[in-house]
Amino acid sequence: MSNTRVALVTGGTRGIGLGIAKKLANKGFNLVITGRRSHDEAEPTIAQLREQFSDRSLKVQYCQADVADASHRERVLTDVEATFGQLDILVNNAGIAPTVRADILEASEKSFDELISTNLKGPYFLTQAAANWMIRLQEQSKEHRCIINIGSVSATVASVNRGDYCITKAGIAMATMLWATKLTRYGIGVYEVRPGIIETDMTKGVRSKYDSLIEGDLLLEKRWGTPDDIGIAVAMLTSGDLPYSPGAVLTIDGGLTVRRL
Ligand code: NDP
Repeated sequence: MSNTRVALVTGGTRGIGLGIAKKLANKGFNLVITGRRSHDEAEPTIAQLREQFSDRSLKVQYCQADVADASHRERVLTDVEATFGQLDILVNNAGIAPTVRADILEASEKSFDELISTNLKGPYFLTQAAANWMIRLQEQSKEHRCIINIGSVSATVASVNRGDYCITKAGIAMATMLWATKLTRYGIGVYEVRPGIIETDMTKGVRSKYDSLIEGDLLLEKRWGTPDDIGIAVAMLTSGDLPYSPGAVLTIDGGLTVRRL
């Protein structure tokens, strides 16, 4: 097993996932990044990462894989094993918002199924497969291995124009607790990072709406969150600097969910 640790980040070529990938590269991780886009489409970003961190001679590999598809998930882990022979960190970041924000009185089952497959079933079963492998690796050498789920404040904040999304994130919150319950005994950390409103492609369609909410009193820190904010939290968790905290949830939301009177 190599001394250079290996992190798998799903959906890591843009948005929050790219923010996480950069912070992990900065910490010296070899990276496997997944996404739906083709190798050709992802290559400029992957090349940029390699270039940016060239002084560390890190390996950055892209794997085109739909997290909702079982055979793709299997292929990702086979690729990681073939290239690196180890997996230290899994970041379940890939996710989608509904194509149309529809009121729960009208929203379609199709959207519900898509969101459940990508945001909940995919990471849940990728975790299952990765966890089985990590348990075997822990038996060979005890390291700070961990699994980090990117949840959302939508796990507890109800938005009736994207109920399907909220339900997937509430499910991720429970998945974090379940996997922490199962994996802590093996020395594998399981955590959730719970972002608030982050400036990415996912939120670009609602930018002006959130601009005015942020201008008002929605947040304690009056600014959009950035992918870097989330990357910093994930990188901290990979250090093992948060002892005695199985299933910990780090809420990175500028104070959105702080109750006020
Ligand atoms: P973006 O839309 O900017 O990026 C989404 C990423 O996920 C892309 O890399 C995309 O890959 C990948 N992805 C989407 N579907 C799949 C799939 N089926 N299989 C593999 N990869 C997939 O979103 P964000 O960066 O904003 O969101 C990242 C995560 O953070 C999501 O889980 C989201 O729910 C969560 N989040 C976001 C918030 C925000 O305000 N932006 C707030 C709270 C949580 P590709 O580029 O190839 O399409």
